[in-house]
Amino acid sequence: MGKLYFKEPVNKNIERNDGFGEIRKDGRTHYGIDYDSPAGTEIRASERGKVVRASFVPKDGNYGYTVIIDHTPEASDNERHIYTLYAHLSSLNVSCGDMVSQEQAIGLSGNTGTASFYRNTGRQFHLHFEVIDTRESGKMNWNSEGGTGYNGHVNRVNPDGYFGNPDLEVNGTVGDHPISEQYLEEILDRMDLKLDEEFRLQIMVDGKNVGCFGNGNETIEMKIRI
Ligand SMILES: [Zn+2]
Repeated sequence: MGKLYFKEPVNKNIERNDGFGEIRKDGRTHYGIDYDSPAGTEIRASERGKVVRASFVPKDGNYGYTVIIDHTPEASDNERHIYTLYAHLSSLNVSCGDMVSQEQAIGLSGNTGTASFYRNTGRQFHLHFEVIDTRESGKMNWNSEGGTGYNGHVNRVNPDGYFGNPDLEVNGTVGDHPISEQYLEEILDRMDLKLDEEFRLQIMVDGKNVGCFGNGNETIEMKIRI
């Protein structure tokens, strides 16, 4: 069992302009939180996990450029999976299959997808954020072609019940062997690496992939045994 601890995907000074469960003018319910993030705001992973989708989503809500992270990548297909979804981005920093650490920048805020319909309303650029919790029903069928794995609002839950909740226990998360940032910085100092520009560091602990840092093209694998 591992613990998950979700954080909000943008800096504290960015306000919300639409909450979970609000009814839109067209009668549809809003199943996420909208953050009033200006163009180019860094969007950060709410918790560590595995990117299961990083592409344009034209259907299922017209999310535009979207990142979906599975925070339970080691849970079996039949076990509970918890995902977060980040929509309307202008650019993506991650690819499908990447392991990401908590608060890693995964993309920049934009207005792709339906967000462009809000032109001239002052809320064109925003982050639409969702938490999708399958509870006992197993893994979602994400794919790169347009399917976003859920049926209507099913499994999309209020993120406020997840932020900072210390009691979210799930099977086999990558959070089993956390590495402190300070320890990582020490290691990187010794290695004299410039991660963002040139390298990407993939960290394995006891054979488990626990996260990656940096966005460079060259990947270095660090294997640690505890
Ligand atoms: Zn929204």
